[in-house]
Amino acid sequence: MYVLIINAGSSSVKFTLFKKDDLKVVADGIVERIGIKGTTIHMKNTEGKRISKETHVADTRRAVELIADLLADKNGVDIAGIGHRVVHGGEMINSSVVVDGRVKQIVKECFELAPLHNPPNLEGIEACEDIFPGVPQVAVFDTAFHTTLPEYAYLYGLPYPLYREDRIRRYGFHGTSHQYICRTAADFLGTPLKDLKIISCHLGNGCSITAVDGGRSIDTSMGFTPLEGLMMGTRCGDLDPAIVFYLMEHKHLDPRQINDLLNKQSGLLGLAGIGSSDLRDIFKAEKSGNQQAVTALNVFAYRIKKYIGAYAFAMGGIDAVVFTAGIGENSPGIREMVCRGLEGLRIVMDTEKNVAGNLAEREIQHNDSRVKILVIPTDEEKQIALETIELLHEER
Ligand code: ADP
Repeated sequence: MYVLIINAGSSSVKFTLFKKDDLKVVADGIVERIGIKGTTIHMKNTEGKRISKETHVADTRRAVELIADLLADKNGVDIAGIGHRVVHGGEMINSSVVVDGRVKQIVKECFELAPLHNPPNLEGIEACEDIFPGVPQVAVFDTAFHTTLPEYAYLYGLPYPLYREDRIRRYGFHGTSHQYICRTAADFLGTPLKDLKIISCHLGNGCSITAVDGGRSIDTSMGFTPLEGLMMGTRCGDLDPAIVFYLMEHKHLDPRQINDLLNKQSGLLGLAGIGSSDLRDIFKAEKSGNQQAVTALNVFAYRIKKYIGAYAFAMGGIDAVVFTAGIGENSPGIREMVCRGLEGLRIVMDTEKNVAGNLAEREIQHNDSRVKILVIPTDEEKQIALETIELLHEER
């Protein structure tokens, strides 16, 4: 028996097929440029065959059909359950759930809150209902892990009706990754999650940082949208909101242009000015003496350090700082910049362990460090598979 994980985005559908009993990945792939000329599919099917082709795929439904057709050559695939990544569940969803009419209605009610993600997420669910009739489906929400935030952490200093009536508050994202990281960190340390204060740093193209006290998210850097918080690949992160009015008045930008500027032209891309948001390129530019690249790296690392400080105080202590995702897992340079100067707080990195090129879970703190510093590869698909299997068992 297998569990299929579907991540349906605005122009792509990613999938992973796990064997249910040992969570081994037996097939995976991506359909990209859906609805755009030149759709491509790249996948490995259950018989290990690699398929790469260009075709035309008009929508999410057709992409899921294509994946279902190509999953196996000869033997059919016996799917026990399907887990979907869904971005936004608002305040109504605080854990993963088996999909039914009510859940689909909630995903729809959150369209306004995640206009680029929730509609294709729902399309993916509905396509699977038709293509795999009778197979139970589970929705795993990016926001669910953060529904434990206390009111004082999720409210903005805005008129209260904007929260009550318009649902403007901090939701937070990357919840599946933060949850996976904290569970794995607790296993790695051999300490129950309930006894740990963890700061989880998810540093990829999108970056967010979460304070997890006893397994509960108590604060997180992304907010009403993923734009808030750390500086990211192309997003600006925290910003004085008055800058938006300034841009409107003095640069004559309209809301769409400002949205584009803050989400797609800022962050490492905008600050370094080398035409790339890829951290590897920024480091290369720094090595060749580009001062703007140095500045971008300093801003990036400083923000992370500042949040670690804030969250250590918010939790009244800290047992472990965990780095994950593309940058967190692979960039010793950023990890070093973030932890430099924290020795007085007994957060001491071992510079040799930091650069040891081991891809597995590992600790990189010095023997003198009171706080553990961990690198843990994230695996959102595996976390979705785990939750899907857990819920399938409960359903029985
Ligand atoms: P996404 O948020 O799209 O899932 P990823 O988690 O894959 O992103 O992270 C992408 C980021 O990770 C890019 O900025 C990339 O430069 C960075 N990255 C990947 N590998 C390395 C590496 N070996 N060294 C430094 N940065 C890396």
